[in-house]
Amino acid sequence: MLLKRNAIMTRLRPLLAANWKMNGTRAALSEIAALRDAVALGRAGRAELLICPPFTLIHPAADLCAASGVAIGGQDCQEQPSGAFTGDISAEMLKDAGAVAVIVGHSERRRLHGETDATVRAKAEAAARAGLMAVICVGETRAERDGGETLRVIGRQIDESVPPKSSGGGIALAYEPVWAIGTGLTPSPADMEEVYGFMRRRLAALLSGEADKVRLIYGGSVKPDNAAEIAGFPQVDGVLVGGASLKADEFLAIVSAYR
Ligand code: PEP
Repeated sequence: MLLKRNAIMTRLRPLLAANWKMNGTRAALSEIAALRDAVALGRAGRAELLICPPFTLIHPAADLCAASGVAIGGQDCQEQPSGAFTGDISAEMLKDAGAVAVIVGHSERRRLHGETDATVRAKAEAAARAGLMAVICVGETRAERDGGETLRVIGRQIDESVPPKSSGGGIALAYEPVWAIGTGLTPSPADMEEVYGFMRRRLAALLSGEADKVRLIYGGSVKPDNAAEIAGFPQVDGVLVGGASLKADEFLAIVSAYR
């Protein structure tokens, strides 16, 4: 369990991102409309809400949220702008559909689709080319953690997945320990301090002055009952939420930790 802390500590604007994965048909647009309406009533405070539904819902979701406080993003993109890549979607297409951001390098893409750090970096570069913010995911597996490899793995992923010309506002870095995704497990406070301090220093070595503007967020079993504790970590600038983001009420219970 994480430590109990109450205040929102991040100095950057918190980024609260929802990764719907392969869930949701048009009926689920009502959840996005409910989030939009809650944000209009001030329920997100100064936090930025980013909903990443499946590709098929990006355009209608962006229409629903036009001129609202809710932004829409993709969950992946192809490196190339267009061409003979059957089934793929480019960053430019996401932008055209109304997305403002895209998740790249999620561990499910790395594991199930064989994406390497170089692929992830090319996708992050494609996002920048199209004018999208890239939410770049890093994180160690259970075996890597047990082997004492956490910082080495995250360091390599940062060095090789983050484009060195990134602007601070053009990317966010999501620490998502693979062993915490969908398991109900979360890192200890000591682990969080160590990893987030390390990530900030590593980014500074790569991006120098821009590193301070990059939001470092956390993903992996974020739920309403641990959101306030995560919001209390000064080094953590928001969350990336999977399962608990599918229903507006549950996601809003997390969002309310950032008011
Ligand atoms: C994720 O897969 O990005 C994620 C954070 O999942 P969950 O919140 O369900 O652990």
